[in-house]
Formats: sequence, structure tokens, C-alpha cells
Amino acid sequence: MGLRAALVTGGGSGIGRAISHRLAEDGFAVAVLDLNSEAAQQVAEEIRTKGHEALPVGGVNVSDRAQVADAVGRVREALGPVLVLVNNAGMTGYKRFLNIKPELWERMLAVNLTGPFSCTQEVVPDMVAAGWGRIVNISSSSAQSGQQYMTHYVASKAGLIGFTKALALELGPEGITVNTIPPGFVDTPMLRESEERGLLGGTVDHHAGLTPVRRPGRPGDIAAACSFLVSDEAGYVTGQVIGVNGGRNT
Ligand code: NAP
Repeated sequence: MGLRAALVTGGGSGIGRAISHRLAEDGFAVAVLDLNSEAAQQVAEEIRTKGHEALPVGGVNVSDRAQVADAVGRVREALGPVLVLVNNAGMTGYKRFLNIKPELWERMLAVNLTGPFSCTQEVVPDMVAAGWGRIVNISSSSAQSGQQYMTHYVASKAGLIGFTKALALELGPEGITVNTIPPGFVDTPMLRESEERGLLGGTVDHHAGLTPVRRPGRPGDIAAACSFLVSDEAGYVTGQVIGVNGGRNT
């Protein structure tokens, strides 16, 4: 039998890139899905160079159901049934509540919440047929703590936590686990862009000093937790919120 296929959305950058590498090292054939085609291509190539199996799936917007369905079909054809899904693709944003236009609110929910809904609906039949599956949703510690000027983002990520809990109950009998990792303060292009735009209320270094473990998170920290959650031995862990945040939220 070939390797089990894992699909990582937003796999071209930051946390998703680290998860793609880690799952390939763990022995999965990894589909690296991203809006950014070049980034998906590059990450898949990095993984292949290390002798593992990867497929770039670029130019796919998770908020577009038809694109998602087509992408999952291509992954299935190339790598076999999709038995692991990591819903990691997401957008961020900072706006005062009264300045959030309805269009922006809708887009945030479309990417961060409907995206995972669509990806999950497209792959769950493969998992049910196999009697085994692993779904990990990358939410955000801001959904645990709240975060000013991010009501749209925080609402979308809190929705993803609720989605995780409800789906875990439904899919448990099928041998499928569903968990969420809400990262906090992880050093990625997304975080650095927020720093550059002065949106963090201080530099990354400043915030690292306020973090109990005294450093920003690394994408590999999230990948390590994800690696455990998709493993065979994590079969009794489902519906859980596994914080990886240096102790910033407990
Ligand atoms: P990142 O470096 O910006 O990577 C996100 C990747 O997702 C990018 O390659 C991006 O492509 C892609 N993407 C964005 N929208 C997409 C869409 N609609 N369809 C498909 N791909 C899309 O961000 P990150 O920091 O690694 O974040 C990964 C996840 O962790 C996100 O869900 C984020 O909300 C969550 N998170 C991160 C932190 C943190 O501290 N970094 C904290 C809490 C939660 P483009 O570059 O083309 O947009």
C-alpha cells in the first residue's frame, strides 16, 4: 500500500509549510494546497528534495467551493484517498468594529470558516470509507482570549473551535478524530507583516519578553502538536482544543 495522503491548506507559508514538512517526515504523502502557486510549488519541491512525497496544489482559494472540489479530486487521483486534513489556510485583519464593512466580514468568514467547512466536506467521504481519518483545524489563541480590533477574525476562529467540537462528536464512531490547535504568537510572515504595520502594540521582541516561555512560537512548535494529533496513537484524543502558545493562554 502507498503512503497515506495528507492535505495541508495554506501549506505554502509559515505554519502550514512547517506542518507540510513535518507530516512528510512522518511518512505521509503531502498535498501542499495554497492560494499562492509559487509557494505551493516551492514547498513541495523542498519536501521532495528531502526524499519525501509531495504534490503542489497551487492557485486554490479555500473560499471557492468549486476550486476546493476540483483540488481534492486532483489530490485523490494523484495520492489516493485523503485521510488527513489540516485546515490551516487563513487570513487576518485588524479594524475597529465600526469600520468593518459587511463585505470584509463576509470574506473573513468565507476564508476562515467556510473554507474549512468545504475542505472537510470534500474529504470526509474518503475517511469514512477507510474507517480512519484525522482532521486538525488551526484556529487562534485570540478566540480564547479575545483581541481588540479583530472581531471579524476572532469570530471566524471561535466558529472554527465550535465546528471542531461538534464534528468530533459526529465523526468519532467512524474512526475519525477532529481537533483544533489555536496558535498564539508564532513567528511567521503573517506575524511579521502585522509587526511592520504597527498592529501588534509593540515589537515581536517586546511581546516575547511578556510570554511565559520568553520567546515567540516557531512554526515547528505547531507542526509538532499536529504530528501527534494525526498519528495513530492519538486515536483517543478528539474534540480537543490543544493550545500551543508559550503559556500566553491557559
Ligand atoms: P501565513 O504565513 O500568512 O500563511 C498562510 C498561507 O495561507 C499563505 O501561503 C496564504 O497565501 C495562504 N492562504 C491565505 N488565504 C488563503 C485562501 N483563501 N485559500 C488558500 N490559501 C490561502 O500565515 P501563518 O501565520 O502561517 O498562519 C497560518 C494559520 O495560523 C492561519 O489560519 C492563521 O490565522 C493561524 N494563526 C497564526 C498565528 C500566528 O501567530 N502566526 C496565530 C494564530 C493563528 P497568500 O500568501 O497568497 O495569502
